[in-house]
Amino acid sequence: MVKTLKDIDIENKKVIIRCDFNVPIENNHIIDDKRIISSLETINYCLSKNCKIILMSHLGRIKEENDLKKNDLRIVAKRLSEVLKIDFKFINKTRGKELEDAINKMKPKQIILMQNTRYEDLIGKKESTNDSELSSYWASLGDVFINDAFATAHRAHASNIGIASHLPNAIGFLVEKELAHLEELKCPEKPFTVILGGKKVSDKIGVIENLITKVDYLLIGGGMAFTFLKAEGYKTGMSIIDDENIEFCKKILKKYEDKIILPVDVRVNKEFKNEGTIKQRDITEIDDNEMGLDLGEKTTANFEKILSKSKTVFWNGPLGVYELENFKIATDKILNYLVDNNIKTILGGGDIVASAKNAGVIDKIYYASTGGGATLEYLEGKELPGLVE
Ligand code: AMP
Repeated sequence: MVKTLKDIDIENKKVIIRCDFNVPIENNHIIDDKRIISSLETINYCLSKNCKIILMSHLGRIKEENDLKKNDLRIVAKRLSEVLKIDFKFINKTRGKELEDAINKMKPKQIILMQNTRYEDLIGKKESTNDSELSSYWASLGDVFINDAFATAHRAHASNIGIASHLPNAIGFLVEKELAHLEELKCPEKPFTVILGGKKVSDKIGVIENLITKVDYLLIGGGMAFTFLKAEGYKTGMSIIDDENIEFCKKILKKYEDKIILPVDVRVNKEFKNEGTIKQRDITEIDDNEMGLDLGEKTTANFEKILSKSKTVFWNGPLGVYELENFKIATDKILNYLVDNNIKTILGGGDIVASAKNAGVIDKIYYASTGGGATLEYLEGKELPGLVE
């Protein structure tokens, strides 16, 4: 069992907290600070225990020199200092004298955020390959390690499993909360319905295989529905198809035909854009030059009927191209239905959480996970390498 924050002694210690400040940024603005706000509980607890706190996080990916500026954590430091309202320092380094001096001068209840851990990926991918020299160096900066970065827990990086292998360690409150909610899905109140959308079948095969025996219903929408429809023999026009997984869809549909619910109608366009000749089509009527970009009204009503009977719902992936105003209709309608009918719903994955935010219902959802890949891998039944003791 992984230890939790309250299981270990952190009083007066130098605590390294691996946060997930990988926030979405547009035009130099953080457009969603949920991940920053979600980290405060652990940080405040460590402050209450008189700790000196060293915060670490990645931001984006660093493959070349140009990525450094784009993924500078300074923007997070600014937002963090606004919400923390206490003595706080950003160090524009991931190692070296400036960082070490700043840490040596720290007093209890002070906080340092170091630069993006993935700056260490520029030469030799040291963070992402869990380089042993890097992890032991980072570990040397503190006394205790707390992993509160759930969204990267499916990766074995120097800043999670690497540091943890050198120091007494525990998970933070955010990771604890995420695991507790996902754990609820292992023994859900029934009927249990899973909604899967998004683009590719390939990303969801593990989850489908692991959850199909536990669910009462599996509702399939989004682009991935067209691969299932093609497997059933329908003409899907120019809709997105994951050809490599048609056989998988055939097999799973045959075995679990009573549980898997596919669309009966969709909203189509001739191009992948918001404007055009948008029509509602039964799935037997999709023209060769049309692509399905959202679910239709009959399908939405079918889904609502099943959800009305459900006591627990897990949802990953939007039901249509929610980034386009004309094709987010089904996703918004179902989100509102779940909220209006008080159906216990756990959302997992960046796109569906963003949809719920855009639809203004996020605060009424039972739980929105901060993890995407990590949430799916956990539900696939895999051990998350970043959380291994
Ligand atoms: P994923 O990362 O596989 O969960 O996919 C999320 C993406 O799926 C979003 O960017 C949606 O725009 C996209 N998506 C949803 N429905 C469709 C569709 N019918 N055709 C193409 N892309 C879609």
